[in-house]
Amino acid sequence: MSDNSNVNHQIRSNPSSGNTSSSLRDHYMDSAAQNTHYSSGGVTQDLHAQYAGDAHGVQSKAYRDSEELETLHKAKKLGIKYADLRQIIPEEDYIKIIAKEDAIKYLSLPIAIKQGKLFFGIVDPYKEGLTAFVKNLREDHDVVVVLISPESFRENIDRYDFIKTYEKDHVDQGTIDIDVNKVTNIEKLKDLLINDGIQFLLADLLTAAITTKSSDVHIEPQNTYADIRFRIDGALHPIARVPRDKYNYLISEIIINSALRLDADRPQNGHLKAIPNLNGIKEIDIRVETIPVLHGQEVVMRLFQGDATMLKLSDLGITHEVYPIIKEILVRPHGMMIVVGPTGSGKTSTLYALLNELNNPERKIVTLEDPVEYELPGLSQSQLNTGESFLDRFRAVLREDPDVIMIGEIRDLDTAKTALQSALTGHLLLTTYHANNAATAIARLTDLVGDMSLISSAINLIVAQRLVRKICPFCRTDHNLNADEAAAVSQILAHLPVSYQERAKNLHFYKGKGCDRCYGIGYKSRIGIFEMLKITTDMQQLIMSKALPSVIQAAAVKNGMLTMEQDGILKALQGFTTVEEILKTVKE
Ligand SMILES: [Zn+2]
Repeated sequence: MSDNSNVNHQIRSNPSSGNTSSSLRDHYMDSAAQNTHYSSGGVTQDLHAQYAGDAHGVQSKAYRDSEELETLHKAKKLGIKYADLRQIIPEEDYIKIIAKEDAIKYLSLPIAIKQGKLFFGIVDPYKEGLTAFVKNLREDHDVVVVLISPESFRENIDRYDFIKTYEKDHVDQGTIDIDVNKVTNIEKLKDLLINDGIQFLLADLLTAAITTKSSDVHIEPQNTYADIRFRIDGALHPIARVPRDKYNYLISEIIINSALRLDADRPQNGHLKAIPNLNGIKEIDIRVETIPVLHGQEVVMRLFQGDATMLKLSDLGITHEVYPIIKEILVRPHGMMIVVGPTGSGKTSTLYALLNELNNPERKIVTLEDPVEYELPGLSQSQLNTGESFLDRFRAVLREDPDVIMIGEIRDLDTAKTALQSALTGHLLLTTYHANNAATAIARLTDLVGDMSLISSAINLIVAQRLVRKICPFCRTDHNLNADEAAAVSQILAHLPVSYQERAKNLHFYKGKGCDRCYGIGYKSRIGIFEMLKITTDMQQLIMSKALPSVIQAAAVKNGMLTMEQDGILKALQGFTTVEEILKTVKE
């Protein structure tokens, strides 16, 4: 059974959004509550029951109660629905469907959109011009007219004054408290998803994601159930299947806490935060994406669990043999170093590990990202403001007179040119670029920029990388390669640089057989595999002659470059990873 009696899983928010969240949850999600508050008649006792926890003073509460009761009876006579706006708080998003002047003129307020219907609050059904106004509104909305009390109207009309300062990007997101001792493994989560109270589902799910160090949580609805999958060390794993009612509740919790809209028919992005009771971890930022699909909303939550001050090149898989290549670039006062790889290959972690090496009070380091992925003390970090171009911001960063500049990613010609030029004029510039390997990156950048001499003189080093899963150290065992694997390995090792050949004499490999510590997966955490292409004099000549990637690659190998595949096989020989993982990753 669940052991939630001693933990606090309350959802905290700022006072105003907190009210909104809880009333949305209580009054739209729960059909019983909805009947009470959008009552087309209603029972007096129900109404009083709803007021039991009210914090108003006795006098005003009694007066207000009678006004609401009167409005309820009036609605019953008119045969229309009734809403108590102390219970259902209209959101700015919906209020602004009509102008404030119209709201005052017709004593009306849009309250909410629920299941495609616009609930439209009116004080006086006989108000002059109201019928025509509602008729007009019906052209764009499926309007349900709801009677509200004059006091409800007065209390909410001022909300219009806050709309101007209301910015979607700065909505306070919900915060979820996490007790890391509650859900220590996936079996426990499965148990809680069945037996725990629905109000704990989101916290339980996030707790499990955090304790298993998952990077993403996927919730995928089907007709009668929804599948939950976690991405652990880059691979998706089925975690649980939950019934439809729990899915519905979970989705509304996520959407409300991410300050998103429940009724959206297009993809949305939002954020929420988890605060775990773990020493040294303040909070975990969670990016939420929702996508409307056939059976509801598919949700992907991405957890940012990294602590950048801990990122070290050696931990990332940069071995002592290749470290001097990087060190040589980092001690130069100018030039450009580019980390390349596809999305999710660990480029940003490498950049931050490099910044950790460079970070000291004598150096001014500025970063420009969209958005900032890690916070690192001692750096001047910035990200794009809404509507600002990357290039404008980049130029502003250059005016800060930095020694080292980190640009999150080169995405267009202007950024590429400005970055290359600044690398020639006294700045050490670190950045990433989307390319499969080092040689391809050179060819693609040459195509993009067109200025071969700028590229050949500005770039010092290109690091290409992938992330591969590490074998779980608790269940590592010997592994004999099958014929295909053996053939692939001997092909990769055929051109191994001489200095590494000693390490590939005895071909002995490993795998993880799966245990409790790795949730039966056989892998735990990840490590990078790298190749480092130095821009030497002969490489500069190849760039000037617009050589094909294959020619650049062959020249680099001839110069003694260890390729990503070779680095991977050497790491498999050391027992860090499997041959299967290397072959799969470099093929992608
Ligand atoms: Zn294991």
